[in-house]
Amino acid sequence: MPPPRPWAAKVAALAVAGGLVWLIGLVISGETGSELHAPGGVASFLGTATGLIGTYLALVMVLLASRIPVVERVLGQDGLVRWHRRLSAWPIVLILLHAVLITVGYAQAARTGIAHEIGTLLNDYQDVLAATVGLALMLLIGVLSIRGVRRRIARETWWAVHLYIYLALALSFAHALALGPTFVGHPLTQAIWSIVWAAAAGLVIVYRFGLPVLRTLRHDLRVVEVRPEGPGVVSVILKGRNLERLPVAGGQFMMWRFLVRGLWWQAHPYTLSSLPRPPYLRITVKGVGDHSEAVARLRPGTRVAVEGPYGAFTRHARRNNRVAMIAAGIGVTAVRGLLEDLPKGAEPVVVIRATTEDDLVLRSEIAALVSHAKGKLHELVGRRDEVALDGAALRRLVPDIVRRDVYVCGPETFVATVDATCRRLGVARGSLHHEAYAL
Ligand SMILES: Cc1cc2nc3c(=O)[nH]c(=O)nc-3n(C[C@H](O)[C@H](O)[C@H](O)COP(=O)(O)OP(=O)(O)OC[C@H]3O[C@@H](n4cnc5c(N)ncnc54)[C@H](O)[C@@H]3O)c2cc1C
Repeated sequence: MPPPRPWAAKVAALAVAGGLVWLIGLVISGETGSELHAPGGVASFLGTATGLIGTYLALVMVLLASRIPVVERVLGQDGLVRWHRRLSAWPIVLILLHAVLITVGYAQAARTGIAHEIGTLLNDYQDVLAATVGLALMLLIGVLSIRGVRRRIARETWWAVHLYIYLALALSFAHALALGPTFVGHPLTQAIWSIVWAAAAGLVIVYRFGLPVLRTLRHDLRVVEVRPEGPGVVSVILKGRNLERLPVAGGQFMMWRFLVRGLWWQAHPYTLSSLPRPPYLRITVKGVGDHSEAVARLRPGTRVAVEGPYGAFTRHARRNNRVAMIAAGIGVTAVRGLLEDLPKGAEPVVVIRATTEDDLVLRSEIAALVSHAKGKLHELVGRRDEVALDGAALRRLVPDIVRRDVYVCGPETFVATVDATCRRLGVARGSLHHEAYAL
């Protein structure tokens, strides 16, 4: 894969920040003192501002989710998830505020009641009904994303409802241009806003849909074998065309959609558990739920659609020559892939945690790769309370940890705990890289 270019991600972040500043400037400069002092002026002004900023942030969220390569390669899955969590409440809250403030402002201006003004807005104002449906969809997404609610619904339902964000944004576009004081009578601003939307839509179409379709057709992947690796864990060997053209680094994952009844409509992330050996690819999957358990029953010949490779858990993230890798459970897949791709001199110290010996999957491959790279392998087997991986243990196992890049992979809580321990031991934030097997 082409190495990540942090400067390109910084340029993208600056462009996003610049766009936000431009938008705020536009709203402020478009308002006159007399408009503000008129009845409902303040509420309408704030309503316009919250609507525009909220919509803009929603566009940014959609772009983050579309995994534009220059950004994705720098942020990786963890970074994208982190930004998604940080930003996600804002567009919904701001757009809801916009609806409330505009209704209040217009009601004050017309000296009428809120209920009457809602009726007027829905019936008489161009495209407001469509925008209201869009807002309802966003609220639905927001409610289903609340942690307590999300835990109760299937991930696929949550994901499918998220797709409504495209519809919600499309439904809201026209009313802003037709009614927004920032746009009405300002053809240049209208044109710039329309170009921003068209560019966002174009990027989504290219990277969210176009590139995955192209890769799927180009590589024409099919399952050739499903091989047991340990309790509840299988490796799936896939055969495809042109795999030497797949831009992948060790440690990356792809989204896999197995085209059989019951599975074709869901794509799940699984890491390549070795570098491609054209014409073959391999993933190693632990059965924890519907999809991952069904993987063990895949038949040879099953066609597979893919997205990716994605992820920044690669050798390109390194700052130091030497590395340490710490994984728990099925998190070894990323470590296995990355080990194969390390440059000379990395002398990896690898720490693998598992509950039982049988859970140490890909064990002999990892041992061989560590030995080849002149590294050290520590296997910690036992229950968490029996075999601690605390600061003292890490210092003992990796005495020079602060001079190494540390790659941590596994369940979310494991990654968060090891990350915090490493930080306490003095590992620099930039030398810590994680891949949590969670969304
Ligand atoms: C970047 C990344 C790489 C991964 N690589 C591997 C791998 O190489 N091998 C492997 O066995 N597993 C891997 N996983 C985890 C794997 O994606 C999930 O175990 C799988 O998608 C669970 O789906 P399910 O329908 O079987 O289980 P569900 O019944 O949907 O869920 C079971 C558990 O898995 C979690 N989960 C569900 N879907 C996902 C998902 N898409 N991503 C993360 N967690 C999920 C749920 O929160 C729940 O705790 C990876 C996850 C991520 C994010």
